[in-house]
Parts: sequence; C-alpha cells; structure tokens
Amino acid sequence: MCQDHKPVGNPSHFEGTEQEKSTAHAVDGTFAQYTQGMKFFDPHVHMTSRTTDDYQALADAGVVALIEPAFWLGQPRTGLASFKDYFASLVGWERFRSSQFGIKHYCTIGLNSREANHEALAEQVMEILPLFLQKEGVVGVGEIGFDDQTAAEEKYYRAQLELAKEMNLPVQVHTPHRDKKKGTERSMAIALEHGIAPNMVIIDHNNEETVKSVLDQGFYAAFTIYPFTKMGNERMVEIVKHYGPERIMVNSAADLGISDPLAIPKTAALMKIKEVPDEHIRLVTYQNALDAFAQSGQIQEADFIHGLEIDQTQKFNGNTILRGGQAPRIDKDSLIIR
Ligand SMILES: [Zn+2]
Repeated sequence: MCQDHKPVGNPSHFEGTEQEKSTAHAVDGTFAQYTQGMKFFDPHVHMTSRTTDDYQALADAGVVALIEPAFWLGQPRTGLASFKDYFASLVGWERFRSSQFGIKHYCTIGLNSREANHEALAEQVMEILPLFLQKEGVVGVGEIGFDDQTAAEEKYYRAQLELAKEMNLPVQVHTPHRDKKKGTERSMAIALEHGIAPNMVIIDHNNEETVKSVLDQGFYAAFTIYPFTKMGNERMVEIVKHYGPERIMVNSAADLGISDPLAIPKTAALMKIKEVPDEHIRLVTYQNALDAFAQSGQIQEADFIHGLEIDQTQKFNGNTILRGGQAPRIDKDSLIIR
C-alpha cells in the first residue's frame, strides 16, 4: 500500500494527476458485455478494506481467485499482537468471507516497507513471519520492498528475501512512488544479489519507465490500475500492445484509498475493444499471475476454475457474513471438480 507522506491525496500506490482522461469511465457499467465468459485472477487486492458488495461485484465480473498481500493499514501498528491478528485474519476470516462469494482467496505475508522503519517492532514481526509463511494458501512473501528507501527498509527487505529463499516462496515487491526508477532497479539488484531467480520475483506497480528493465532482467512485471492516476487502463493497453503478454500481469491493488476492485475486468474489456488478442488478455489478467504464484506450490487451479460451491450458512469460528434475518445463498448445484 502506498505510503505517501504528503498530507493531501489518498491514492495508495501511485501519486497521479487528475488530468488523465480515461475511457475507463465509458467502459464502466458496460464492460461486462466485452468480458462474457472470461475468468480473472487479481494478484493484488486488499479485501480486508473492502465490502461484501465488492466481493459480489468481483464474483459477478468473473474474478475467480485473488491474492491479498499483507500491507500497512493506514496508520502504524503499535505492537506485535496487531500484526499477529492481521496475519491471522488474512488466512482466516478474510479467506472465509471470500469463499462465501465463491472466490478463492490466497495471501502473501510480509513486513511492509513503511513499518520496517519501526525497527524495534520490525524485529519482533520478523520472528513470527516463518510461522505464517508456512500456512496453507500463503503464496509468497509480500508486499515488501522500498518506500522511502531508508537503511532500515533495505535491512528488512534483505532479511525477507532470505526468508523467501529458504522457504522457496515467490516474492511480491512493492516499488516506491518517489524515485520509482531508482527504487525499482535497487529492488531487483538486491534480489539478484541474494541469489533469487528473477522468475520468483513479481515487481509491482510498474509504469512505462520501469517495465523494459524489469522484463529484460527476467522478472515478472505487475501493473496496478488506479482511477485518476498515471497508470490508467488505456496506458496499460498500450504497454501490452508494445511488449506483448509475457510475464506481465494486471492488478487492482484496491485498498482503503480511492481504487477500483473491478480494474482487471474493465481493463480486459478495454483490451478487447482495442483488439488485443484474446489469448494475450487471458495471459495478463489470469494465467501469468497464476503461473508466478503457483511456484509456491500452494495454488491448484482445479480448486477455483469451475467456481467454488457457495454455502452462506457456513460459519467461521461461529461467525457468519449474514446479518439478522438475511436469507443465505446456497449453490448446491454448482459444478465442482476435484
Ligand atoms: Zn498493496
């Protein structure tokens, strides 16, 4: 998540101007007519900060699986217990909540760059990471990397790269908004220095300035589509047309700030309108993310490709998503393949 020090402005991963005139709005509401039958995998979305309406909209739009990276929550945590509870919710309640809308939920676990600067607490968080990284459905170490590019950020980025290497997990790297080019190059150089294969590293929040070097060095290049920012989906279409689909993936990074959880289906619709081949759309909105994070050994496509069976009468630790008197949705007829 964005760790923007300026007192104004909210976009979490990018600082953007509002000048971008985007056909995203034109596609809004009509995008579904272009994406019939398509399935999507969002490899970066902070569902903890979203509503059940968002889950329903994602399911309706064809998002069958997603990855929720551990991140900063908008204000600094003051103790280890809040990290612990947050990580536990990513593999517990949030995963349950997602399942109630038929969406397979995975997560990455890590110490984010902003909170790496609180060294006393960071040390304690490092100690509990291995425990959570071993849990089922944890598909990588993330999102980690640089924010202000401080010495403490580098120290904990390196320590977590070592952890990823030991546990043979992919790494999801958040790149900084300020000095992005430099921060991105530095993130990649350090990963290589630690002997991590570039295909195990997903460099996130790319733009036109960073993409070529990321792809040339063999890393995965993820792009966050945010409304009113520099990387609107029209520019995303141009990038896919220019570079092709290999190792590129699109995400929404929807979070507590102004963002759009439907960024992937909307971008797919725009690609379709702009005549990007269907197979290229499938690769950048589904398959490449799946391939990258399946290297964790924690993703079985068969678990979600035909949809999850939804039974909203289910409970998690005695809790349900239903509120007094609501009728549960139960799909007893859904087609499950094991
Ligand atoms: Zn994020």
